[in-house]
Amino acid sequence: MSRRLKDKVAVITGASSGIGEATAQIFIDEGAYVVLGDIQRDLGNEVAARLGDRAKFLFCDVTREEQVEELISEATSVTGTLDVMMNNAGIVGARAPIDQILLDEFQKTLEILVTGSFLGIKHAAAKMKEQESGSIINMASTAGLSGGFGPHAYATAKHAIVGLTRNAAAELCRYGVRVNCIAPSGVATPLAAQAHLGDFTAMDKLRETLAGNSPLKGRAGTAEDVANAALFLASDESGYTNGHCLTVDAGFTSGSKATDPQHMASVPFMREAGKEGLED
Ligand code: NAP
Repeated sequence: MSRRLKDKVAVITGASSGIGEATAQIFIDEGAYVVLGDIQRDLGNEVAARLGDRAKFLFCDVTREEQVEELISEATSVTGTLDVMMNNAGIVGARAPIDQILLDEFQKTLEILVTGSFLGIKHAAAKMKEQESGSIINMASTAGLSGGFGPHAYATAKHAIVGLTRNAAAELCRYGVRVNCIAPSGVATPLAAQAHLGDFTAMDKLRETLAGNSPLKGRAGTAEDVANAALFLASDESGYTNGHCLTVDAGFTSGSKATDPQHMASVPFMREAGKEGLED
């Protein structure tokens, strides 16, 4: 078996579920130590136990600076370095037409997605600058690259994450620290099931919906597709890739058309962003 992350130390936030969990699995399979942070404590402990002794779970709310610092300090205690920081924790957040979004819901969405990523970048950067190496991976979305891919607060936050990735990359490159992000379209996770179908457990139905809409005929995106992109950005193979936003979207944002455009038009989650208008 290859060991593309042999003995590297990684932190992944939002790692109790979905993309974070899948990435933790792949990182461990490739030889890394992984510190998993999430607000889902029981699930996080279960995931870490399943992953084995190279994994450790810590409760971490990414909007709490001291908890983010603690997560990173736990990671640096493993071998003394922090090689990979993946700011992945997220929610869909406020969902409503633009004139009906409540201010506190809008702000809360930005707090988790943007402030949470900022805090992860900030504290990883402090350690990585000192050691003059490291890879920071932020979780954007196709909703951060184009209009019409998600609710307004979510799209705002994801655009901000792409911007922060590029700006942090421009500063940290002189220390040998790379900063990139990933922009998936809908992939089968509890978050997407909740967003698309209003039921975070409806995974089979979600896969069917995503496969029915995918430009890659019949192929739904998976958490593992995104985890493999994270593996590339975490590994030395991406050593000259910096400030990049890597899409994992079957070509949606570059012009590939949905197999069945009518399929997604029926999903309110997409209509809220104005893609299909707000008529029922
Ligand atoms: P997921 O399965 O719901 O995993 C996200 C995890 O983050 C959950 O365990 C969630 O807990 C946790 N979390 C929420 N707020 C947090 C906080 N303040 N601090 C720490 N952890 C927190 O969702 P996912 O689909 O894997 O999403 C991971 C990332 O990918 C998100 O940033 C999302 O925006 C992005 N993304 C997902 C898709 C997709 O289609 N799935 C597409 C594009 C981008 P709770 O469940 O308790 O909230």
